[in-house]
Amino acid sequence: MPQYHIWTIGCQMNKAESERLGAFFEQRGYQATATAEEADIIVLNTCVVRGSAEDRVINKLDALKALKSLRPNVTLAVTGCWVNSNVEQLRENSPHVNHFFGPGVLPSEGPQWLEKGEGGQVLPRHPLPSTYVPIIQGCNNFCSYCIVPYRRGREKSRPLAEIICEVRELVQRGTKEVTLLGQNVDSYGHDLPDRPHLAELLSELDTVDGLARIRFLTNHPKDMSSRLIEAIANLDKVCEQICLPVQSGSDDILKAMRRGYTVEHYRQLITEIRSKIPGVALSTDVIVGFPSESQEQFQQTYDLLSELRFDTVHIAGYSPRPGTVAAGELEDNTPADEKRRRLNEIEQLQENIATEINARLSGKTVEVLVEGKKGEKWQGRTRTDKLVFFNSNNNCLGQVMPIKIKQTSPWALQGKLEGQSDN
Ligand code: SF4
Repeated sequence: MPQYHIWTIGCQMNKAESERLGAFFEQRGYQATATAEEADIIVLNTCVVRGSAEDRVINKLDALKALKSLRPNVTLAVTGCWVNSNVEQLRENSPHVNHFFGPGVLPSEGPQWLEKGEGGQVLPRHPLPSTYVPIIQGCNNFCSYCIVPYRRGREKSRPLAEIICEVRELVQRGTKEVTLLGQNVDSYGHDLPDRPHLAELLSELDTVDGLARIRFLTNHPKDMSSRLIEAIANLDKVCEQICLPVQSGSDDILKAMRRGYTVEHYRQLITEIRSKIPGVALSTDVIVGFPSESQEQFQQTYDLLSELRFDTVHIAGYSPRPGTVAAGELEDNTPADEKRRRLNEIEQLQENIATEINARLSGKTVEVLVEGKKGEKWQGRTRTDKLVFFNSNNNCLGQVMPIKIKQTSPWALQGKLEGQSDN
């Protein structure tokens, strides 16, 4: 049986697309293999959102040169955001790669070099209790630092009926939780003929029997509407957890980033969300060391995070991405060690905040969807996306279980099954 190997880095969208690509190969008689050395087809699903991710792609491609010269019949394909529109140039630089295809090409649409079979809807091979479902591709925002709109193109939503059909199918195969994915998920539907709103999709999915939870990411503050907030508040299966990247606490930096909102607008959104969705868990993304960010502007970001107290903060040091407006027009003038210092300061702040937020769960019983095992322990997540570990001799996979929290940390919680003795 021919074998395939997919190497994936980057965001959840890449992971979801690799899952579907794997299913596409398996429908055509291929079997997954853990290492590239044994594979007949190798696919690299790449990311260039940061310089470090791009370096990993280049190193990986270099490492595969030796394998290609030993086994020239191996097919090497590259997809993901590293694949730009200048494929001729890519071919010239990496002649050992057989095929390049752009990110977001769902397997049912291609890639043509493998399109021998029936096509049609392709679902992940082994639906897990928790599964990602891409609902909108691309981005129309053109934040000045971001390469995504250039690589993934403009926003393209999947029809509502198609998504519902796919989720029903996943649930029949054992999925309990879906995470709807999009670079800009809260603008879902605006490009479709009947302009369905994300709130509408959520309310349709809420009626799917057997589905326990619905999440979605990533949101853009300028598209987060009261209608969507109400839907999260009112629909039982939609988890009280929202990812809303702020990026900076300075209006001047937000303007230079071309984010399209002010700090005050963002603050009001958080107030509205917290007043309508009690117990909501909030996460955000922040970039430090954006071109011209002064110590004072950095401090504004620090102060905003101290004020709003997120459950999780994803922090990145600015890294210029060739082809973006910021890389072309703005000087990357914060030294690397200063970016690192700012990053560490926020990490430390966030560790303290997360310690305090999670400590409040100590002694409480939470509902955990069990996703798998780590060592001897079962692991799963609360509705608010907290990672929880506990012991049980039974097979708990895919079950929603009441877990009493015994111990907390900024990153994870330890608990025991409600009603179980301590020994
Ligand atoms: S919203 Fe901005 S940061 Fe997010 S994918 Fe679009 S351009 Fe990039």
